[in-house]
Amino acid sequence: MSTRSVILLFDDQSDRAGRAELLKGSSGCQVQFIDLHNKDVIAEIKAAAKTFPAANLILVDHVLDKTSPASQEMVNKGSTIVPLLREHWNACPILAITAAPDACQKDISSEAYEAIFSLDQFSRLASYVSSIIAGYAAIRKSGKNLAGLMALLRVPTDDQDALVGVLPEEVRRTLGQPECAHYMFRWFYNTFYRHPGLLYGHAWASLVLGVRGKAFEKYEKHIMRAAYTGIFRDKESPRWWKSRMYSLLLPKSARRFSVSIQQAAYERLHIDEVDFSGCYKCKEKWPEVMACVDDAALDCADMKPMHLRCTRAHKMANAKPYFEELRVMLGD
Ligand SMILES: [Zn+2]
Repeated sequence: MSTRSVILLFDDQSDRAGRAELLKGSSGCQVQFIDLHNKDVIAEIKAAAKTFPAANLILVDHVLDKTSPASQEMVNKGSTIVPLLREHWNACPILAITAAPDACQKDISSEAYEAIFSLDQFSRLASYVSSIIAGYAAIRKSGKNLAGLMALLRVPTDDQDALVGVLPEEVRRTLGQPECAHYMFRWFYNTFYRHPGLLYGHAWASLVLGVRGKAFEKYEKHIMRAAYTGIFRDKESPRWWKSRMYSLLLPKSARRFSVSIQQAAYERLHIDEVDFSGCYKCKEKWPEVMACVDDAALDCADMKPMHLRCTRAHKMANAKPYFEELRVMLGD
């Protein structure tokens, strides 16, 4: 019998079967496309559960409006079939795919899916599914207590207390139980990995080095030891531990409090001045934060590098310990 992981892909548009092939190619998993077009959804789910009782991951199209007329009366969104899926695959992550992830996020209870992915990022999701499956297996095997989880996340010693402090209550409550992996992944994907705080993505890591986002690649190798290498890592969208970047660039010393991190990076990494980062507002070098241009902008895509002194707290700012505060550019 094959030991390959099994992914089930539920969709009501037959022409999307090609996605299963793409997924198979990039994940190395066995992928089964379950076509719900004009089908009785409950019967299809039951049949799939019989054939694939130990599936490792399920993908559902969030908009299911082309199933059989009888099914339409009870099912029209992927989220409405999630309880049916959970009856058969309680331990398996269920991810939604949709053309409009933000609308979908507002539209449904956060309990429905583990995560929501945008349709246009399907190829990225395809390369990420193996990491999700491996993370689930690792939590079930050795994430039975807090120390085990810290080891799986490869948390630097200095950050362990902070990390334990931000873990959601559901994770602590379910430690050692099968649903703990669901809570861990939801928190990891929607909060810990997404919001800059203990971990920094490309934009914030560039700020630490004092370089423009486009020049980051030139210096990235110097902070390799700060890279996040724990479970659920998304190789296409890497992260770095903030504390490790600081200790690499500015080791504990008397100078530590008198030198800015960008100055330290400049001296240690021999950064070329043409690569210096600049503040979106005042144009001077070495901004410290990513901030919105106005209070209406909330999207990461609308964030620009700015000095702390060139910004104020965003109207929607919701201070959470260890996560960076949302800030907005000062008016003239
Ligand atoms: Zn500035």
